[in-house]
Amino acid sequence: MQNIYPIHAFKDNYIWIIHNNNHAIVVDPGIASPVIEYLHTNKLQLSAILITHHHNDHTGGNAELLKLFDAPVYGPMHELISTVTHPVREGDQINLQAMSLDFTVLEIPGHTRGHIAYYGSNPIKRLFCGDTLFACGCGRVFEGTVQQMYHSLGKLSRLPDDTLVYCAHEYTLNNIHFARTVDPDNPKLAELEVTMQALRCQNIPTIPTTLALEKTVNPFLRCDQPEIMDSVQNYTDKILLTPLDIFTELRNWKNNF
Ligand code: ZN
Ligand code: FE
Repeated sequence: MQNIYPIHAFKDNYIWIIHNNNHAIVVDPGIASPVIEYLHTNKLQLSAILITHHHNDHTGGNAELLKLFDAPVYGPMHELISTVTHPVREGDQINLQAMSLDFTVLEIPGHTRGHIAYYGSNPIKRLFCGDTLFACGCGRVFEGTVQQMYHSLGKLSRLPDDTLVYCAHEYTLNNIHFARTVDPDNPKLAELEVTMQALRCQNIPTIPTTLALEKTVNPFLRCDQPEIMDSVQNYTDKILLTPLDIFTELRNWKNNF
């Protein structure tokens, strides 16, 4: 039996924990205490920590967890994170034998320069993508370039449609609000807003999403679609020629929304 559970942290972070009856792996533990509590309550041994990028809300709990558990910490090779014991890069395979889990590392720079994602297809297709792809949105471009972010999202969108996407923040309602401004006539988006509002009213996570759904509702994955292109073109005075131009202005629009 394998479970995946979101541990709420800070204002809107999710620390994802995957576990069986004995072992657990944790993704982006920004704070240790709720993770330790979950591990103790469920009598779990920590087998590994996966880190997507260096921001403190994703790494802050590492040191304390390592005092209690002797676990490898996987993280991006191109970022300086003192608690990472196993730096990984594009194409690396991670085999977590205690959990019978395998992940492939994807480099997806943009939000930060070295941001990575973890993709696993056994037993089900799952993507842990930190602050790069969000439900109905995408991460801010802090260190990398908009072009890198565009290509990183393109890379993620080429994974299988039925991939479950586990992002690291609950931003969905806010993202849908923006998406509806950009793409007001999208019926899937209107439907999604109702469903997601109902979930949030009960404090239920809107994550995971799927790539199939994101391709129909997430404007950042739809910069080659006429309705998104027209809408973004109307927003700006600049002449936009390529999907990358559209993406750049769309990201800019969201920053000022
Ligand atoms: Zn971040
Ligand atoms: Fe974050």
